[in-house]
Amino acid sequence: MLKGKTALVTGSTSGIGLGIAHALAAQGANIVLNGFGDVEGPKAEIAAHGVQVRYHGADMSKPAEIEDMVAFAQREFGSLDILVNNAGIQHVARIENFPLERWDSIIAINLSSAFHATRAALPAMQAKNWGRIINVASVHGLVGSAEKSAYVAAKHGVVGLTKVTALENATSGITCNAICPGWVLTPLVQKQVDAKAAALNLSNEEAKKLLLGEKEPSMQFTTPQELGDLAVFFCSPAGNNVRGVAWNMDGGWVAQ
Ligand code: NAD
Repeated sequence: MLKGKTALVTGSTSGIGLGIAHALAAQGANIVLNGFGDVEGPKAEIAAHGVQVRYHGADMSKPAEIEDMVAFAQREFGSLDILVNNAGIQHVARIENFPLERWDSIIAINLSSAFHATRAALPAMQAKNWGRIINVASVHGLVGSAEKSAYVAAKHGVVGLTKVTALENATSGITCNAICPGWVLTPLVQKQVDAKAAALNLSNEEAKKLLLGEKEPSMQFTTPQELGDLAVFFCSPAGNNVRGVAWNMDGGWVAQ
């Protein structure tokens, strides 16, 4: 379905971004990966779908590097059709103890990076009159949780940015939507499981159950594959008139 299209997925060396890259590659899209850590492993995994893969190491807290990455994707493949703004980090602390530099980096990486990448990608999408922009927000774009001020503020911002991007392009072939996962067992969440296990002297399994039990009625983690399939739906012809939604995949978290 996506043969001949190019997708750039930020923060795709791990977790949800890698899952979305897999799902788009399985539909035939060429992929530009981004993120830190091991690059060769993810590159090989994605290439196994029979698509072309490139990597750009832009630091998503640096606007000039983000612009360079978008230009790289356009240069390498002739166009950038699908942009998935996914890179993100977390820090958990009460507001009065929240380190200033963590606030700044969460706002930069989780929110401003999506603006910079969207701004750079839109003109070429508008010229072609086709594009898909998918912002990986969170249930924390819809509701709050204590000790996550920067993350919740950034994710609510991403949901707002999604709506404005969708509206400004509403009469075109460019759609913009947000995906709002509940708990997904990636390194970002494993750190929170580890912290709970250490604080309460629990096993890994007990800490996971506690984490799910606090928020997620299904008592299941959403998987990167499930989120990837939702991204594929947004890119499909059936997604043509889905514009500006914040679609939660959260085991009932925000239904409560
Ligand atoms: P993860 O830690 O597994 O992956 C994060 C990715 O972002 C990695 O590839 C990492 O290298 C990259 N990254 C981090 N800082 C970067 C930077 N400055 N520049 C470039 N790349 C950078 O985390 P994840 O759980 O897969 O999270 C992905 C997205 O999903 C985030 O936006 C996160 O907020 C969101 N999310 C996660 C969950 C969850 O439960 N895991 C739930 C809701 C939303």
